[in-house]
Amino acid sequence: MSAQSATPITSLTPSQKIQLSKLEKRLRRHVGQAIAQYNMIEDGDKIMVCLSGGKDSYALLAILMLLKESAPIHFDIVAVNLDQKQPGFPEHILPEYLDALGIEYKIAQEDTYSIVKDKIPEGKTTCSLCSRLRRAILYKVAAEIGATKIALGHHRDDMVETLMLNMFYGGKLKSMPAKLVSDNGEHVVIRPLAFCKEAELIQYAQLKAFPIIPCNLCGSQPNLQRQNIKKMLQDWNVNHPGRIESMFTAIRNVVPSHLCDSELFDFKGINADSGIINGGDTAFDDEPIIATQLTNNGNFEDNSKATFSLSNSLNVIEIK
Ligand code: SF4
Repeated sequence: MSAQSATPITSLTPSQKIQLSKLEKRLRRHVGQAIAQYNMIEDGDKIMVCLSGGKDSYALLAILMLLKESAPIHFDIVAVNLDQKQPGFPEHILPEYLDALGIEYKIAQEDTYSIVKDKIPEGKTTCSLCSRLRRAILYKVAAEIGATKIALGHHRDDMVETLMLNMFYGGKLKSMPAKLVSDNGEHVVIRPLAFCKEAELIQYAQLKAFPIIPCNLCGSQPNLQRQNIKKMLQDWNVNHPGRIESMFTAIRNVVPSHLCDSELFDFKGINADSGIINGGDTAFDDEPIIATQLTNNGNFEDNSKATFSLSNSLNVIEIK
């Protein structure tokens, strides 16, 4: 069965069609890489795709459907939406969309909206309780439909934002895992969009004309900490292109011997016979980073007269 969009592809201009085709190939490649790297999907899996009605979950479903067509293994997809009974929730949108795709789906209905309104004082952020309730219900549905994996639509930028949130407010070096066991210990949860950029998912949603349902129909205030982090990262990305990419690469390239967590690395066991560990005392592998700040003739980008020479072996930056 072919994956379809809600909007006929014929309504796109020729250049938009080319754009969509390239973007889809790129997203497909990134999702395929993440699936392979973390062994997210195995032969015979039944994948429950959590469809919220947001751009990311629509993209997740569309790309997994495309991959299913060409994958060398067999897996099944069931789209699941939880209708949380928010006022004004347009109940018809997802069934119509999913019927048009012709895939198996389930719309679960639970009035978590009333519970959240009852428990959280007016004006406070309700997302945390709402998400916990939603998770528990989705785990129950996964068991009912016999799903072997639960797929969520979080992407690379969500992961970097979570890393920053945990560092700034939680005192932990921790992000969102690409694959994990659910809170109740019963399910494997996967995030196949882990390598996808949010900007590309926004563009994909526009080109595919996904019928987006806003999450904040409940009237909840956005989580200000997350909003601030998002804004900070967006500003960085404008002023220093590639910084988010570098941070995401860092999450995949951890050096426990050069952090300070003695649970992760046996610092007590180090002695003179241990040998040089992970490059020794080179605390900052500065060469590629500094190189981007230097012009071809070695002058610093801010046009100051200072020039720099790097000595990797001594980890010294000399200003001449
Ligand atoms: S915005 Fe509303 S529906 Fe969305 S997670 Fe927060 S509380 Fe739940």
